[in-house]
Amino acid sequence: MKNQNTHKIWTIKDVLLWTTRYFETKNIQSPQLNAEMIIAKVLNCSRMELYLKFDKPLNPIEREKIRKLLKKRATHYPLQYLLGESEFYGYKFLVNAGVMIPRPETEILVDSVISYIKQTNKNNWNILDIGTGTGIIPISISKYFISKEIKIHFLAIDISETALENAKKNSELHKTQNIKIKKSNLFENISGKFDIIISNPPYISENELNNLQDEVKYFEPKSALLGGKKGLKYYHKILQEAEKYLNEDGRLFFEISATQKNNLEKDIKAFNFKIIDIIKDYNDFYRVLALGMK
Ligand code: GLN
Repeated sequence: MKNQNTHKIWTIKDVLLWTTRYFETKNIQSPQLNAEMIIAKVLNCSRMELYLKFDKPLNPIEREKIRKLLKKRATHYPLQYLLGESEFYGYKFLVNAGVMIPRPETEILVDSVISYIKQTNKNNWNILDIGTGTGIIPISISKYFISKEIKIHFLAIDISETALENAKKNSELHKTQNIKIKKSNLFENISGKFDIIISNPPYISENELNNLQDEVKYFEPKSALLGGKKGLKYYHKILQEAEKYLNEDGRLFFEISATQKNNLEKDIKAFNFKIIDIIKDYNDFYRVLALGMK
């Protein structure tokens, strides 16, 4: 689209093909999908509709908007930050730059908590989500139970103001009234007892950071990614204190990375917790640890 002379008509098809090629040369993964998402966003339509309007010419304002976004995406700036949204658990979530982008793996954590709640005959739950980020965990769990008899009170905490604002926006978007969002560095501003404590804490080790995609390495907040030298810092901190905040038969649910499973299994022995369940994700990687008190 660079040397466009004023007489050339650019249809949706032309722009889609051009953008896809451009992304290919910039090593953007899934170039066509990225092109479709950006063009659909600017034209305020679905990806499907692009194909129904394939021969529609774009006006210069639309082309300029698309150009700006694709230039930025070509620097490997994450698509979700550009669009300001992401999908998780079948729902739309707003995503601010400065907050970790929801990952599909975290759906396993959400599912694990939901099935645990369903297994019991308890109707009232008090749940803490540590490092809530965009708020996907409490919001997805709350929405699942919304029309059921089960009542859940969530406390969603984060140390980052940007995360707290983002979680509030998502909580408003999804009209969840059972989630209290509060600033706290781990348990610092927390009192009371919970039936479940959930966390998908930062768990990337120093060595792993270099192997991550540019999108993650350069643009997602380090504070949401890095978990100390071995990536286990926050698990240790939470394990250290969680027993004071859990009811006797309470559960702790962690998202983990498969590479940490063995180390964590060993480390947990030093704390007052035992492993109740280890759940794999769809790629057959260990992804969730469910713990109870010894
Ligand atoms: N709990 C949030 C999520 O799962 C944020 C996690 C994080 O920032 N490490 O997306």
